[in-house]
Amino acid sequence: MIHAAEAAWPLAYDPAYRPPSDVPYWDVALETMSEDERASVILGKIQRVMAWAYERAPFYRTRWQAAGLEPGDVRSLDDFSRVPTIAKADLRADQAAHPPFGSYLCIDPSEIFHIHGTSGTSGRPTAFAWSRDDYDRIAESHARIMWSFGLRPSDTVFVGSIFSLYVGSWGALAGIERLGAAAFPFGAGVPGMTLQAVSWMQQMKPTAFYGTPSYAMRIAETARAEGIDPRDFGLRIMFFSGEPGAGIPATKRLIEETFGAICIDSGSMGEVTPWMNITECEHRTGMHLWQDIVYTELLDPATMRPLPYGATGTPVYTQLMRRGQPMIRLVSGDQAEWTNDPCPCGRTYPRFPRGIIGRIDDMLVVRGENIYPSAIEDVLHGFPELGIEFEIVVSRPKALDELAVRAELAAPCDEGELRERVMAQLKRQLGIRAEIAFVPAGAIARTDLKSRRVRDERPTG
Ligand SMILES: [Zn+2]
Repeated sequence: MIHAAEAAWPLAYDPAYRPPSDVPYWDVALETMSEDERASVILGKIQRVMAWAYERAPFYRTRWQAAGLEPGDVRSLDDFSRVPTIAKADLRADQAAHPPFGSYLCIDPSEIFHIHGTSGTSGRPTAFAWSRDDYDRIAESHARIMWSFGLRPSDTVFVGSIFSLYVGSWGALAGIERLGAAAFPFGAGVPGMTLQAVSWMQQMKPTAFYGTPSYAMRIAETARAEGIDPRDFGLRIMFFSGEPGAGIPATKRLIEETFGAICIDSGSMGEVTPWMNITECEHRTGMHLWQDIVYTELLDPATMRPLPYGATGTPVYTQLMRRGQPMIRLVSGDQAEWTNDPCPCGRTYPRFPRGIIGRIDDMLVVRGENIYPSAIEDVLHGFPELGIEFEIVVSRPKALDELAVRAELAAPCDEGELRERVMAQLKRQLGIRAEIAFVPAGAIARTDLKSRRVRDERPTG
């Protein structure tokens, strides 16, 4: 069903709407439409959000005018590909020049309902302003997407991530509430909380879990130390964002075997919330692009021209129904391959079959090679002899970069033989040599949110 208000912008949802639990789709018409029908839905929303931003945001108006464009000039998705792209650095610079929300705040400040933000690890933190109706649409979008991986009102969802400016936890919570499942907003980050998480999960038997992959594995370790098999929690679905692990084949297998639940990879960028716009369905064939919520293009990062299905490039996101600070053609800098091959779920959204292959923020350049920590993780988690945590150390003791990996041993073994096998596999995967050192299980620091697995000791400048 296409909602009656589809023609209006932004969409007004019926807050009481929910499909029967045995129906696989939240909105079968939107989720299974042909590519042409979908293009027309997307174009209509693009025209509305561009008109909205042009009127209210000098940030966009000046860029578009400089390119000789007005919103009325965009009459097709091809036309849209000529609209200037923006980068995270542009948002940071604009907020510095026009504090605190930048010249792209499109609502009256009195309408701000939530303030969230980036962690600021790469410079000045960026603030996100959500209006009340933005929040409602985030909830609606996330509920619809969670439905696709099997979450239902009868589920209880343990949210094991930090409630702070980090939008992951809030986005998950909003969707869980809208879907009608029982929210169990446990949180994370306080000393002693992981042990409490184990005892609460053992007691309450939630059927679903949200957090980061590394924190889920930390909960598993803590449970085992208490003599509890993580499968005893009875989890059915685990969904993740904030780290690439859930889309890394070896880590996905490890999580599914450890907990006996399906492992769902989700999440684009905090700026793009509803960040579940790229999320796997229950079939786990890669991340679907929910194009009528956030329109995703795949561009060649060198030319910024659109790429055909089958190609690898950088995702560029356009929010189609956010009023507060709409993101229009925000370049992620990440790397993904895309396909429009059918998925057994019947949804006609294109997919990133291998998820986000590399997060640009995580990429290391070592001896001229682009190295993604996720590639190293995929190798290490494929060896059952190794533990969960690892650390990547890049240094430059003389003229050349050196790459070293510290990995935990899960159990005693022939270390020399194992080292050779792991190093050979790393060389195959990365194209360069990496030294490996083994440390005892538990020797590497654990995290409650995103693991910091890279230590770059090279001199700067
Ligand atoms: Zn699917």
